[in-house]
Amino acid sequence: MTITRVENSIFTSNTWVLVQPGEGTWLVDCGDVEPLLPLVEAPLHGVLLTHAHFDHIYGLNELVARFPAARILTTADGRDALLDEYKNLSAYHDSPYRLPDDSHIRLIADGDVLPLFAGIRAAVHATPGHNPSCVTFAVGEYLFTGDAYIPGVKVVTILPGGDKRTAAASVERIKQLAEGRVVCPGHGNQAPL
Ligand SMILES: [Zn+2]
Repeated sequence: MTITRVENSIFTSNTWVLVQPGEGTWLVDCGDVEPLLPLVEAPLHGVLLTHAHFDHIYGLNELVARFPAARILTTADGRDALLDEYKNLSAYHDSPYRLPDDSHIRLIADGDVLPLFAGIRAAVHATPGHNPSCVTFAVGEYLFTGDAYIPGVKVVTILPGGDKRTAAASVERIKQLAEGRVVCPGHGNQAPL
């Protein structure tokens, strides 16, 4: 499996592109779609959503228009925010954005183990605090943390839905999960802890 980071134009969030040759592609989060296209190997199975803040979701409508079979995997809180421009904060950035409906959404929850490719699975760990919809995905030796943990950066908890104490507990959980793994955060480069 190859993992490529694409830095998005809005708030320099990351989209991570996971390709297994011969088996297709999964994304972690989705901003700008155009730069993803040369990287995606069909089929594009879907998007693992670290959380439903605007800068991590704003390409989803264009993505599912191009790849109608793609699923969007998120929590119940994430679904609510994908359908609400205030909950995903886009309304506060003068660019209200929402999904038209939940037809592409598949709900996930803490403890789920998702088959991505043959022999490669994503374990779902709820890591709220930055936002209620935050999850961390463990995929082999990689850990996709979104904004719940960005190495060297204090977790942002002042946005609506944020909670400092919950975030601190999630960071402790993530640090345990990160042992022996490479952290792939929602902003910035990969890093060992
Ligand atoms: Zn965020």
